[in-house]
Parts: sequence; structure tokens; C-alpha cells
Amino acid sequence: MNAQTQPERRLLYSARGLSKTYSMGEVPVLALRGVDLDLFEGEFVVLLGPSGSGKSTLLNILGGLDTPSAGTLDFDGQPLPFADDAAMTLYRRRMVGFVFQFYNLIPSLTARENVALVTDIAERPMAPDAALALVGLAARLDHFPAQLSGGEQQRVSIARAIAKRPRVLLCDEPTGALDAETGTVVLDVIAQVSAELGTTTAVITHNVVIAAMADRVIHFRDGMVASIEPNLHRVSARELRW
Ligand code: ADP
Repeated sequence: MNAQTQPERRLLYSARGLSKTYSMGEVPVLALRGVDLDLFEGEFVVLLGPSGSGKSTLLNILGGLDTPSAGTLDFDGQPLPFADDAAMTLYRRRMVGFVFQFYNLIPSLTARENVALVTDIAERPMAPDAALALVGLAARLDHFPAQLSGGEQQRVSIARAIAKRPRVLLCDEPTGALDAETGTVVLDVIAQVSAELGTTTAVITHNVVIAAMADRVIHFRDGMVASIEPNLHRVSARELRW
């Protein structure tokens, strides 16, 4: 294959004119103002931009947690039916894994039981033990969250997100509460499970260093996509210097 040849990229998301206005009393807040964005199957993108620039709003709309005020969002060639709650529940349940800054684990359940909460309602899940093994926690199955470090708790939340074999993995500041070393391990796990499962993965971060891991870096400003940079020299999380 000639070095110039690009492998065919299959479009997974296509957003056109995506806007979101929140009404805070009298004053409308324009969180997104006309975002046009394509995301391709299997790619790893990092979303950068100042606080309040609309990154989380976009991620939540991509994941079906929030609805746009205007514009369209196609997923796999079909418009996402935001007005149809039942269809959106199925979409979230089958297609999307979320990882947040705070792990949102249930304290009274073990790691395995926290993951099983999701696999019990998924269509063709992996076993909780297998999901926990993928994130390097095969030896921590029966531990409760309080018996795990922050990084380990985040890895349980990643296992929970990927156990349903989602097509999309959406991570909102996944290392925001972690020190650099632990954050590196968590990013490494996210990159590895993304590659292994072939998910389309979007990671929001404040840490510009993390952008070096991405296939493309999407910069937000004032509710808009300010620029998109392809990253030709993607590095692993272990090579990042914080
Ligand atoms: P970022 O993720 O880049 O920090 P956000 O998407 O969280 O930005 O926020 C974009 C803007 O929308 C901000 O001004 C924020 O205050 C506002 N916003 C976000 N969510 C809500 C909400 N649920 N209600 C009202 N305003 C919101």
C-alpha cells in the first residue's frame, strides 16, 4: 500500500448545526452554537477548550443524555430520535459507554457487582469478570469501592462502561480527580480497551498533553468547534509527560 493511501473511514456521527440553549431564568445560555462535526468509527478524539466552551454539552448530546435545541445528529447514517425516549434509552443502553470524572460506583456493591448492574440489562455483554480483567483488575473483583484507590475505582467505572461492548466510549475528564501517574494508567486502559473493542472514543480533558494520544484533536471555543487537528504521531499514554 502506498504511504499516501488512507484506509476507508466509516462515518459514525455526523452533527450539523448542533445548538443547545439552556434557559437559566430570564437569561438563555448558548452552550453550543452550530457545531458541525464528523466522527469516524474506531477513532480516538480528544476534546480541548476552556471551561464553559461546550465540550460536556456536546458529549452529553452524543451520548443521548441531553437533547439539542436545534440541528441534527446522525448516528450510523440515521438521525438520533431525540423525541423518542424509549428509542433513546435503547441507544444509550446498547451503544454508549460513559466514564466521568467521579466514578459513580455504588459503595455497597463490589467491583464485580457494580459492573453486573450494567451487564444485567445489556444485549450481549461480556462477563463482569472479563471486563474487570481487561482493565487490569482481575485480582480486585470482590473489593468494595472504599477498598480501592481512586485509579482503581476509575478502572471499575471503565469496566462498567465497556462491559456492554458499546460502539462509543465517551469520557468526560476521566483523569480530572487523579494524580499524573494514576491518570496515565487510566488513560492507558482507556486507549487499550478502545483499541481492543474498536470503540469510537472521545475524551474531554483540560490537560493538553493528553492530546498527543489522539487520532484527532478537536478544539472548542464559545460553543463552537474552533479547529480540528489530525495527529500524525499518536503516542501511548505511557509516553506522555505531564
Ligand atoms: P465545558 O464542558 O466546555 O466546560 P459545558 O458544556 O459544561 O462546557 O458548558 C457550556 C455552557 O453551558 C456553560 O456556560 C455552562 O454553564 C452552561 N451549561 C451547561 N450545562 C447546563 C445546564 N444543565 N443548565 C444551564 N446551563 C448549563
